[in-house]
Amino acid sequence: MELSKRAQGIEPSVTLAASAKAKALKAAGKDVLSLTVGEPDFPTPKNIQEAAKRAIENGTASYYTATPGIPALRQAVVDSIQTNYGLTYTPSQTIVTNGAKFALYLLFQVLLNEGDEVIIPTPYWVSYSEQVKLAGGVPVFVEALEENDYKVTVPQLEQVRSKKTKAILLNSPSNPTGMIYTKDELQAIGDWAVAHQLMIVADDIYGQLVYGEAVFTPMATISEAIRKQTIIINGVSKTYAMTGWRIGFAVGEQTVIQAMIDLASQASSNPAAVSQYAALEALTGPQDSVETMRQAFEERMEKVYVWLKDIPGLTVRKPQGAFYLFPNVRETMAICGYHDVDDFVEALLEEANVAVVTGKGFGAPDNIRLSYATDLATLEEAVKRIKNFVEKKQQK
Ligand SMILES: *Cc1c(COP(=O)(O)O)cnc(C)c1O
Repeated sequence: MELSKRAQGIEPSVTLAASAKAKALKAAGKDVLSLTVGEPDFPTPKNIQEAAKRAIENGTASYYTATPGIPALRQAVVDSIQTNYGLTYTPSQTIVTNGAKFALYLLFQVLLNEGDEVIIPTPYWVSYSEQVKLAGGVPVFVEALEENDYKVTVPQLEQVRSKKTKAILLNSPSNPTGMIYTKDELQAIGDWAVAHQLMIVADDIYGQLVYGEAVFTPMATISEAIRKQTIIINGVSKTYAMTGWRIGFAVGEQTVIQAMIDLASQASSNPAAVSQYAALEALTGPQDSVETMRQAFEERMEKVYVWLKDIPGLTVRKPQGAFYLFPNVRETMAICGYHDVDDFVEALLEEANVAVVTGKGFGAPDNIRLSYATDLATLEEAVKRIKNFVEKKQQK
């Protein structure tokens, strides 16, 4: 059967492909260490699990809910934005979705006409460009340079702006770079977007995973004009170790949100009711597990960052948030005789038994992505293996 052009144009997610490959090798008995995962390694906190069990046992999780989510959860989303951002929204300005990923998908579908452009800073999270394309839009990439801590500037954005530009996407803290935009940087980009009436898609999913002196400033808090043009994307996956539950949300202008709700009502209906009750507990229950997990990530990052810098040729920025390191391995590859990061990543897997993700899927062919959402012993051994691999190739 001939598939649609739309389907034929989709690039499968490189991160999911990399972790699937690592899992398959492991299952075949190979001692593979995987640094590919984009999810916390912690189990969902107990209080959240218990809330889900109660919702199953008392029957409330048995039925369809309203498409945009149960009223209590939409209210909890609004309340959490009030607490964390100091911004007031009404529940009708929220939609609860099957993960933040589906919120983004819905948003591009209701926002873009054929040929509309969305500016996406690279390195970027793998799904943005594919989702834009699926909506008939055109991703327009702007390279955030390593020298500028992988952040884009207004002159760079202005260079690619056209009559067709509809929106700009911002992900801070960033997957894959771990970088956070400062308030001043956001102000400049936000003012520019407002001046040109561009929608700002703020993927704030790592907003609570912030380290050291770094501060997360949500784009929507910069000014009232910016807030009006910003759709906030967030969810419980990363903050509460709930990736498998699939609950995300979008918050912003009511007409946009309502269009997303209407589309979801035809596409997916509500996200799983049991997951909504779990997410309600996550947002309204005790928050101490969030800080415990954040500290664990920070402790690992501090160590792995130092270990990594020992690898010949590698340069890496110290992450300010999220749970990834995104080293530039151009020199390292040259030392080892590789010119293509996909080949380098393949060799690391086959010869060193370490799985990482190629930077190519993030639009960064000089980089690899390592996730530190795994235990310290695994991280230490994995970095050791990479270092040995490089040093052995170097001697040859
Ligand atoms: C993980 C992730 C998401 C989506 O998470 P969901 O599990 O779908 O809520 C969105 N954006 C970025 C940058 C991510 O890393």
